[in-house]
Order: sequence, then C-alpha cells, then structure tokens
Amino acid sequence: MTENRMMVRVQIMGESYEVPEGSTIIMAMEYAGYQLKRGIGCREGFCGACATLYREKNDYKIKGGLACQTVVNDGMVIAQIPFVPAEKPVYDINELTPDINTIKAIFPTVFRCVACNTCTKACPQDIEVMDYIQALKRGNIERAADLSFDCIRCGLCALRCPAEIVQYNAAILAQRLYGKYLSKKNPQLDKRVKEIEDGKYIEEINELMDMDREKLTETYYNREIKIS
Ligand code: SF4
Ligand code: SF4
Repeated sequence: MTENRMMVRVQIMGESYEVPEGSTIIMAMEYAGYQLKRGIGCREGFCGACATLYREKNDYKIKGGLACQTVVNDGMVIAQIPFVPAEKPVYDINELTPDINTIKAIFPTVFRCVACNTCTKACPQDIEVMDYIQALKRGNIERAADLSFDCIRCGLCALRCPAEIVQYNAAILAQRLYGKYLSKKNPQLDKRVKEIEDGKYIEEINELMDMDREKLTETYYNREIKIS
C-alpha cells in the first residue's frame, strides 16, 4: 500500500490537509499542526469539551459530534467549536423548590419546546434529550435528572434547538434539585463528605497533584472501582 492510499484529504477551519486515514478529528487536527488548548479535554468521550461540526463529502447535512470520537473521512469539512456561549442562569439551590415553579422561573425557555426531537438526534451520547425537556415541562424533576444523567455538556443539542433552549444547563438544575431534595439520603455519602471536609484525603490528593502525566495515567487505569 502506498503512503497516499493511507491518507485522506480533509478541510479544517477552511484549510485543506492530508491526514492519516482512521484518525479522529482531534488526531487529524494535531497532525495538521493545530495545538489545541480550548475545545479539548479527556480525549475519551467523557468530558464533552470537543464538540465539532462537520460535513461529509457529497452530503449537504451539517453534523455534530465529539472530535475525539469522530473518525475523519475523505472530503470531510470540519469546524471545531472552542465552546458554546450558552446562557447559564445563576441561582442558589438552597432557595429553590424541586417543582415546576422553579423550572418556570429559571428556565422559562423550556416551555418553548416544539417537540421536534432535533436535540435527541444531535446528541452524541444517545440521550433522549427531548424527553428530559418534556419531563421538565411537566415538573417531573426526578425523570429529567434520570434521563439526563449521562450528559457530558458538549452543547451540541443547544446549538441545534430551534427554541433556543439550553438543555444541558436545565439538566444540571434538575440533577441538583434531585440530589438535594428528592433522592433517598445515603448515610455513607454524608460520612464521606464529612471525611473530605475534615481533610482525610488531603495527603492522597497532594500525591496525585505531584504525579507526572505518565504516572497519573497509569494510576487512573489501575484504579480500583468499588460498586456497592
Ligand atoms: S431541539 Fe429544542 S425544540 Fe426541538 S425537541 Fe429539542 S428542546 Fe424541544
Ligand atoms: S444532552 Fe446535549 S449537552 Fe448533553 S451530551 Fe447530549 S448533546 Fe451534549
């Protein structure tokens, strides 16, 4: 196979580049010489920082995805979004009630939803975004918090919403309301929070802070996951 056959031509931010076939958009951008400081994070599909818009060859549709998860193909046109400048209301969770009145007061835009399902189709996490917005419209905080649990705040839903709703920030509100007022209390959690407040883990945190990248990566992948 010649080297050319292993390369694809893509357009990144208006410039044309040859990049290795099979690269993710992030890998392709770095191969092309971009040094990414904004719009990049974990590189593993969890942090939601690398929302990207792209169009594929011979396709008129503008698609969205995570740059760390989306693989380039020949003729792709790519525009990376450093961040989504979405509205983010400020509130004190201690002064709110977990009901529809809070949603009306803080996210009145939610009630403009026209049920077009564009947000669900735009979501790279396959979250039923429209359904959690509909749950919020009914004041069903628990359902909204549950349906939006896997949201990584990439912003792609809000970018496409014709009603200009910021779904993911409304989801954070639902999750906070649920966590503070509706969820079953877990004494283990209270115990752990108290331990953190008393400084029990300071030494371990400092140890992590002092690790170089290689050691930190190794520690992360070898971590013990306790499920109870
Ligand atoms: S894209 Fe906006 S208007 Fe359409 S279903 Fe989602 S929240 Fe509602
Ligand atoms: S709900 Fe919206 S912000 Fe959350 S992951 Fe899906 S598209 Fe991204």
